[in-house]
Amino acid sequence: MHHFHYKDGEMYGEDVPVATIAEAVGTPFYLYAHATLVQHFKAFDGAFEGARHLTCFSMKSNSNLAILRLFAGLGGGVDIVSGGELFRALQAGIDPKKIVYSGVGKREEDLQFALSSDILMFNVESSQELMRLNEIAGTMKKKAGIAIRVNPDVDPKTHPYISTGLRENKFGIDIREAPEQYTVAAGLKHIRVLGVSCHIGSQLTEVGPFVDAVAKLMGLLGELEKAGIPVTFLDLGGGLGITYDQEDPPHPREYAGAIKQMVSRSNITLIFEPGRVIVGNAGILVAKVLYTKSTAEKNFIVVDAAMNDLMRPSLYNSFHAIQPVRKKGKGKLQADIVGPICESGDFLAKDREVDAYEPGDLLAVMSAGAYGFSMSSTYNSRPRVAEVMVRGDHFYSIRKRETYEDLVRGEEIPDFLLNG
Ligand SMILES: *Cc1c(COP(=O)(O)O)cnc(C)c1O
Repeated sequence: MHHFHYKDGEMYGEDVPVATIAEAVGTPFYLYAHATLVQHFKAFDGAFEGARHLTCFSMKSNSNLAILRLFAGLGGGVDIVSGGELFRALQAGIDPKKIVYSGVGKREEDLQFALSSDILMFNVESSQELMRLNEIAGTMKKKAGIAIRVNPDVDPKTHPYISTGLRENKFGIDIREAPEQYTVAAGLKHIRVLGVSCHIGSQLTEVGPFVDAVAKLMGLLGELEKAGIPVTFLDLGGGLGITYDQEDPPHPREYAGAIKQMVSRSNITLIFEPGRVIVGNAGILVAKVLYTKSTAEKNFIVVDAAMNDLMRPSLYNSFHAIQPVRKKGKGKLQADIVGPICESGDFLAKDREVDAYEPGDLLAVMSAGAYGFSMSSTYNSRPRVAEVMVRGDHFYSIRKRETYEDLVRGEEIPDFLLNG
């Protein structure tokens, strides 16, 4: 469920017409519904009520400070993948003791930053990283809490680019080698073994692969206990899918139902790193139609948003529903919705049955709250767009549209070029 709906043919975000916001901030812009963000966070977090757990929002899906702040207020932590994300999380007021740090390529300065911030746990992805972390923690006179991210070799049955838990993927340590790595970790002076973690992929639409992964992880937990290396955290990562088109993903309640009984016997704190399932359907990208054109083969609707603003269609060929901001009832046609960027891969929708839009019309690219703005760039020197949060009958700018000045900030022309 989300809070974008029609009243008399007019799209609203909560109680505000989307067209009113467009008039105020210009286009394109991302719009997030506060009520949906809250509802989705609570639906996920609440599903695990009764089990000791911590919901660490995966902030790579959406790292806007206002959204992080909202989740912090609901008791959430975050899953970070870089020093930059740690900086954002701290700026937003996330409790460092609710931060877990994942990623195969953590840099030395990022490890230092995370250690000095006293985050909860590093999800270590290689033996070299483990050694490096131990070394750095030593020089800082700290002890680093870790989980080893294991690769359980289960097929998440999702797009290959967002599948991460197969043996062929770059992530984690093969679960068969994990016991050995844990023995090493337990012997390191500046490492404290806290947990086991995994993340098998994104946009999963079945519970099965999660259940398979948990079964394997519980096996590992038992082995570790026998080896005298008990752990307290079981981090199951993110990955629960959402409905973009016809998908029918499990509700967090079903997911929780399947998982809870598998871990009920142990005194374990579960950690989750959901991203998409919380913010995906809480956001839309609003764009304006610039031109329409037809070739012998195709109809094109050219809008002012492009692949730099929303990369998912170009990158994964993903589906985002396209909906009119004002229903005009002028019929339908088959068309590609494309942006102004000089790439044939610059499309938001392909061969889609859409309204017969005319220049000046507004349209909404639905389900754009996750991996939307956070993946955006300034390619073609297009300033990054504004972000707005609507709550009841008020809306708030949560990120200003970038200016041309922002585009060149930090660039320098060496003297020899100026005086040549
Ligand atoms: C991307 C990612 C997530 C979030 O995935 P979603 O599918 O958005 O829930 C969680 N954990 C890790 C380690 C990730 O890389």
